[in-house]
Amino acid sequence: MALGSGAGRLRCAGALLVSLFLMASNCYATTPDTSPALLNRPPRVLILYPYDERIAATTAAGEALRSRLLEATDGKIDLFSEFLDLARFPEADHAARMGRYLTEKYAARRPDVIVALGKESASFISTNRGRIAPNAKIVAAGFGNSTAENIDLPDDVIGAFTTFDILKTAEMARGLQPNARHLYIIGGSSEFDRGWLATARADLDEFSKSYETTYLENLTIEEFIERAAHVPSDSIILALTVFKDRAGRNFIPREAIRQIAATASAPVYGPYQTYIDHGVVGGNTVTFDTLGQTVGNLVIDVIAGRPVSDVQAPQTNIVDARQLRRWGLAEGNLPPGTVKMYRAKSLWEEHWLAATGVLGVVLMQAGIIVALLLERRRRQDAESRSRLHLLEAVHLNQSATAGALSSSIAHELNQPLSAIRNNAEAASELLRSGNPDRELIQQILLDIQADDQRAGDIIGRMRGLLKKRREIDWQVFDLNDVASSAIRIIHGDAERRGITLNTNRPASELPVRADKVHVQQVILNLATNAMDAMMDADSAKRILTFATGIEKQRVELCVVDTGNGIPEERLSSIFEPFYTTKNAGTGLGLSISRAIVETYGGTISAYNRPEGGAIFRVVLPLARREARGA
Ligand code: ADP
Repeated sequence: MALGSGAGRLRCAGALLVSLFLMASNCYATTPDTSPALLNRPPRVLILYPYDERIAATTAAGEALRSRLLEATDGKIDLFSEFLDLARFPEADHAARMGRYLTEKYAARRPDVIVALGKESASFISTNRGRIAPNAKIVAAGFGNSTAENIDLPDDVIGAFTTFDILKTAEMARGLQPNARHLYIIGGSSEFDRGWLATARADLDEFSKSYETTYLENLTIEEFIERAAHVPSDSIILALTVFKDRAGRNFIPREAIRQIAATASAPVYGPYQTYIDHGVVGGNTVTFDTLGQTVGNLVIDVIAGRPVSDVQAPQTNIVDARQLRRWGLAEGNLPPGTVKMYRAKSLWEEHWLAATGVLGVVLMQAGIIVALLLERRRRQDAESRSRLHLLEAVHLNQSATAGALSSSIAHELNQPLSAIRNNAEAASELLRSGNPDRELIQQILLDIQADDQRAGDIIGRMRGLLKKRREIDWQVFDLNDVASSAIRIIHGDAERRGITLNTNRPASELPVRADKVHVQQVILNLATNAMDAMMDADSAKRILTFATGIEKQRVELCVVDTGNGIPEERLSSIFEPFYTTKNAGTGLGLSISRAIVETYGGTISAYNRPEGGAIFRVVLPLARREARGA
């Protein structure tokens, strides 16, 4: 307890003396004309540490002070540190030597402010300030008001005083152990220890009335350990200081307390930060960090030339979370704002950065997935809209084809209908005769049936051509069948126009998966165009050939004519809409045909034959046989 050894505030010191001391020092203010703020260079601050650099209490406070100063001045400050090593070299000679050494060392760089940490540093600088830095402002920190009186701190030295209040530590213990019935207070045998015990007796006078209270004093270290190990479990143990035991053995208090707390049968509390990590649950204290911040603020005010006065470093409740767990004490019973040390971080606290990162990535992925789903939905909508448009266009195209073929169809229909009428008249003639030939009548009726069937087929084909479709009727069918049905439709027209129809088809099936009526429409478009293109040709040479075949995984259909062919410059753009050379043409037949073929994953292309005439080639994917009828 390096800093604590000089830091116990003994509240038994006379209130009057304290008040007088405070009155004297509170009136102090830096005079503006000597303020470091007016200097044309960074201010110089010398921090005096009483011991060597390994003593945690002073170095921790010093580090907090340095950070505060660097932060407040944006690094524009000259900081110096000196470790006086006064514990290991308590001789007056050493202090005098250090005084001379520092006087010479800082001859060219006299500090503007000197911070003396601990009472030994404060005593040292009080003696040597005239030589080391006669004009420097002195800030002393890390001990109580009464110590300031004991060492006769000069009036113009500003104090950042620390108070160690055992009552507040006791209250913290009561909060954590509301069911405790016994109170033990541990204090050593040195003068300081005994002073602390006297202060505690006064401070805990009221508090201890609620407990069966025992002061463990005048004991050897072994006796302290033994007694603490056998207190009832519903006890609170308050550890003050043990610098010396009854046998006269010297201790660093935190080491003595560590031995006692290790085997104690009830929780041990103490008013020093240095006791944490030595088996003590916690207490009310001034933390090194708070002390460093408080002194830092004082120094900043001094540098800025603002009026300053003595301050009390704020006290903090501090606990060791491991000890809370050891004794099963609830965190929820701690006073608000208690600093919890060695608290195992929650999974979130430990990995919040990684967790936030992962969460971010997951959210980003979710965002992308939602965007993709929306995009897919939009695409599907667009596709279904364009399919609907295609279906409408195909229907119009079919109607136009039906219109163009209507006279030929009517003509074709005329044949079976006339035959039916003639056969019917012949049959009734026969029936009117005296001895009707029943067999002949039977034959006539069969002919009528056959002609009716033909007429029905013609009408059925027309109905298919004119039927409006809202959906694609997917099915697997033989391309040859559809080609044959198309040929039957144009058969009458071709005959009327003096065109010979040829087919060239393989014996095998050519399965494709598409809407039958659409593929038929493509063939009809190509066939009517071919027939139109041959009208200028000699009637003997008007030949329309339908050739089907299979190549690799593709099925193909070629519609070959002996017409004029396609102008070379038009070959590449023949499928663009609105190109027509016909008076009543729309220029849409080929573009609709291409849209249909591409819908079913195929291609359509046009060539000219060297011997005259055009070839239109449709290629469609071969459907798998097992998918037939699907
Ligand atoms: P339309 O038949 O209404 O003119 P299409 O898109 O079916 O519309 O045909 C566009 C044009 O392509 C036709 O007007 C014609 O000039 C030309 N064409 C189509 N097929 C042939 C063919 N077999 N031989 C020569 N020209 C053709």
